[in-house]
Amino acid sequence: MLSLEEAVERTLESVPFLGCENVKLEAALGRFAGIDLKAKESLPGFDNSAMDGYAVKSADLKQASATNPVTLACIGVVPAGQSAANELRSGTCMRIFTGSPVPSGADAVIMQEDCKPDDKTNTVQCLDHVRPWENIRMQGEDVKRGEIVAGRGTKINPGAIGLLAATGHHEVNVGQHPKIALVATGSELVEAPNKLAPGKIYDSNRSMLASMVSLINGLPKTYPIVNDTLDETVTALEKAFNENDVILTSGGVSVGDHDHVKPALEKLGGKIDLWKVAIKPGKPFVLGQAFDKPLFGLPGNPASALVTYLLLVRPALLKMQGTSNCLLARRHGHLAMEMINRGDRRHFVRVAIDEEGEVTSAGGQRSHMLGSLAKANGIIDVAANTRLASGEKIEVLMIDG
Ligand code: AMP
Ligand code: MG
Repeated sequence: MLSLEEAVERTLESVPFLGCENVKLEAALGRFAGIDLKAKESLPGFDNSAMDGYAVKSADLKQASATNPVTLACIGVVPAGQSAANELRSGTCMRIFTGSPVPSGADAVIMQEDCKPDDKTNTVQCLDHVRPWENIRMQGEDVKRGEIVAGRGTKINPGAIGLLAATGHHEVNVGQHPKIALVATGSELVEAPNKLAPGKIYDSNRSMLASMVSLINGLPKTYPIVNDTLDETVTALEKAFNENDVILTSGGVSVGDHDHVKPALEKLGGKIDLWKVAIKPGKPFVLGQAFDKPLFGLPGNPASALVTYLLLVRPALLKMQGTSNCLLARRHGHLAMEMINRGDRRHFVRVAIDEEGEVTSAGGQRSHMLGSLAKANGIIDVAANTRLASGEKIEVLMIDG
């Protein structure tokens, strides 16, 4: 049986990079930059005022104070979006507003709270001095033209979208999102709102996994439930491979008589790259491929499906989009209770971590249990044959990270 690390390495090695596409800037949140995205303009693009006030020469106001005001002739107005027609000369000022370009000749802005304008004489009494370049936002002080806003493979965050927009981008080049087939196998499965006949259960894996892949830019496509026959499985997989970049199956990867995913993959000319990973839950995980596309065969039990998705599939789906940061978000906390793993496989225990970092078991840990899965916001890695004491520091892998 492979260790988790070996299995992750193999899945990452086996998946292709899907290439890039241009998308509208508004659609780029959470996507990964396909190239180094650079500022097309400097920010600010020109020296501009940080205040409503008057553009001045700071040297004119060296001696100015409330008791010794300096009077300047006001020779114009610079509204936002316009530039001053003429140069500012000594002894004069211009009315200016936040964001207005600083007229040439001016080297400071005195805020209007420190001024007394006189409309009749077109003069302004300045009641304070200003340092050179005070209240001026200098061209390029924030970002220089050509600077990298989001390096290739970096996740685009809201601030980067703002910065890209501010520097003249309306579209951006990002890694393609993977089209992901969700195929649930199991003759016991029923889809709501259909009624449950005796012995049947509602499928939950397709909805859960579709939601998870959507969190990382995946485009999920849900296929009808597949009964446990080899023929049906082959037909369903062939269609799924034709229409997607990645296949995610659930169920049918154990050693039962009705487990057809691996034989179906082989019948399609594909191969199995790995089967069985030394983790709990999730041991029967399969990585395979056909038609040069990966198939991830997740065990049918919901907790096993989610844990193997988080640890083995998610990193691969991220890599396919061109990022190298495939780790789940982590939070540091401390155990509020003892945790014991008597087994010989690493146990990924469903937990809830609260605002204070207190980590408690989310409840029953058997792999069919959804009650605790719904209460969990993270999983912790408890090594084989290990007892962790209450109070111990622990790292939590966040489920929706
Ligand atoms: P399997 O991996 O096919 O052996 O299934 C293991 C367990 O998971 C069985 O109890 C199945 O009924 C259950 N199961 C399989 N697929 C799903 C699914 N899509 N949704 C919910 N439970 C499932
Ligand atoms: Mg089954």
